[in-house]
Amino acid sequence: MVNLAKRGKLVDNVCLICNKQMESTMHALWRCPSLKRVRVFIKGVRADDHIQFFDFIFSCTSRLLANELELLCLVFWRVLFRRNGKVHNSAAIDDKNVVPWASSFLLDFQQANGPKEVDSKVGSDGVRIVQDRPSWCPPSVDSYKINTDAAIDVANGNVGIGIIIRDHRGQVMASSARMDTTPRLWK
Ligand SMILES: [Zn+2]
Repeated sequence: MVNLAKRGKLVDNVCLICNKQMESTMHALWRCPSLKRVRVFIKGVRADDHIQFFDFIFSCTSRLLANELELLCLVFWRVLFRRNGKVHNSAAIDDKNVVPWASSFLLDFQQANGPKEVDSKVGSDGVRIVQDRPSWCPPSVDSYKINTDAAIDVANGNVGIGIIIRDHRGQVMASSARMDTTPRLWK
């Protein structure tokens, strides 16, 4: 709101959630009184008075472990989502749910992108069968590999597709992702 007011887009720069203070980036993502429980959850973060958001992030990079910094970035993302939901849609997300949501998202992301795991199961003869999960391997020299994926959201009639083309070194030659919100593709 402060940035919009500076550019002449708004007259009022007060935070629309607490209606008390100017909504700077620092206020919107960290200092707003409505984020009290978010600040309690995140340990080891100190915001000096009048610090700008960029300097705040910079100070966090030296104070926090990589995993904590990743969580903090996700918390900012969720806080912004919460703020926009309240301002534009009157949708309420309790501030106490912000950090658990971010933690859960981070865990899911790390598990999906972590070291390759090996699945195993015990067959009918009692012998454990080990199955490597499929992993990507590059094509032969002077060849390209195309990987695609698609997802269908039946309830809302959305189809999303993604495509990526890589060479034998694994370098990306081209990629594209798009969502089609018209159900004609699959009806
Ligand atoms: Zn506020």
